[in-house]
Amino acid sequence: MEEAEKEPKKDASAEEFVALSDFTASGSDQLSFLCGDRLLVHARPCEDWWWAELREDMVGYVPASHLLQCRISTRTDSPTLDTGPVPREKEEGLEDKAEPGEQEEDLEDPWQDVEYFGSYGTLKLHLEMLSDRSRTEAYRQVVLNNRDFLRDKVVMDLGCGTGIISLFCAQLAQTAKVYAVEASPIVEYTRRLVRQNDCEDVVCVLQGRAEQVQLPQRVDVLLSEWMGNCLLFEFMVEAVLLARQRWLAEGGVMWPSSAALLLVPCQAHSFYTETMTFWERPYGLDFSPLQPLAQQEFFTKPKFSHVLEPQDCLSTPSEVLFLNMYTLTVQDLEEMEGQFDFLVDTPGDFHGFCAWFTVGFESLQPGGEAVQLDTGPFSEPTHWKQTLFMLDSPVSVHQGESIRGSIVLRRNPTWRRHLSITFDWVHYSPSENQYKIGSKTFPMWR
Ligand code: SAH
Repeated sequence: MEEAEKEPKKDASAEEFVALSDFTASGSDQLSFLCGDRLLVHARPCEDWWWAELREDMVGYVPASHLLQCRISTRTDSPTLDTGPVPREKEEGLEDKAEPGEQEEDLEDPWQDVEYFGSYGTLKLHLEMLSDRSRTEAYRQVVLNNRDFLRDKVVMDLGCGTGIISLFCAQLAQTAKVYAVEASPIVEYTRRLVRQNDCEDVVCVLQGRAEQVQLPQRVDVLLSEWMGNCLLFEFMVEAVLLARQRWLAEGGVMWPSSAALLLVPCQAHSFYTETMTFWERPYGLDFSPLQPLAQQEFFTKPKFSHVLEPQDCLSTPSEVLFLNMYTLTVQDLEEMEGQFDFLVDTPGDFHGFCAWFTVGFESLQPGGEAVQLDTGPFSEPTHWKQTLFMLDSPVSVHQGESIRGSIVLRRNPTWRRHLSITFDWVHYSPSENQYKIGSKTFPMWR
């Protein structure tokens, strides 16, 4: 630092950097900062020491080796850490795949990041998630059950939101370091929450897309709450898989370690009555010509946030997909197929299929208990509830009949957070020795 002139002038073209680790000043001309702090570098008088500003009037020399440059990403409305090539191959051939009539600005953002991360920048979703006790407690329990294993380990909390899971790690398990990565603007508050809870020595909050973030080291544990409706919707899981490849140390731990999609044929009388039967005679008038429109409007897309009553299951639910989080690849996400063979044990009206997921967290403590988060109708309700796929019209089913077939989840080649789900099935009635074939595809949302 000897070569550097004292207090160089502020440079109008100052550039933003993020601190990769803490630094404590050893002289009055140096500036202390914490891992995750954002600094404006005004001058680079020598290779190793730069003149930077932390907050207004907090300026000084900082070691260049502790900093990583931020570039403004074109894909989000907030700055992201961009240190290398974007790992996604999705832009290629976009124009060929674009749907007619789509807005040009949409085409530039097939991940719809502005909208997606924008929604996580407000408290509404965080309130919903944090008030979901069975979800949040499951993560807390994983940390608590494995606290001996976690002590002194390095963790990445991918999509940390308000930082709740990172704070569990720091406070309940004394991890050595948690890299809490978050791309939405809530991250400004996450930093404050980490400080407020005295965890700034352990939790390093990094703003940016996990796919682009640069960590100073590999991690022992990759933790994330990435699940969406029907498990995969919004495909945050892709970021987790890319981070596994880049940042998980050999032999490192994935939490969740596995995930499964479950399905059951079900009745949905109240939803059917509210949306379809309603048009038969409202106020004594025949509004039935609106029924085809109702079918189009309410039954062509899945119904999120459906609460399936256990007695509306027409059979025992079955696992149709199982994902091993150590071996699953991004390519696998393009198309996933599962089979089902339901034996009807409750006679009733087969209105549709209902889906939900479970995730499992393996135990790393000798003899310890694995944790499972189950979002199904037989467990404590979660904010995901269940997802309902209505048939065009109900089918009467009887005990002993079977509904056998397949479910295929196809990721939209353009709109990377979207997918379609196709059900193909055969309904067999042994008493009538009759087979009826059914098929229906649901876009989610494109
Ligand atoms: N871990 C928090 C929030 C979970 S919601 C909790 O348990 O309460 C998922 C979070 O991941 C959101 O805040 C979202 O903005 C963030 N996220 C999603 N994809 C991301 C990505 N690719 N990189 C960084 N953050 C991401």
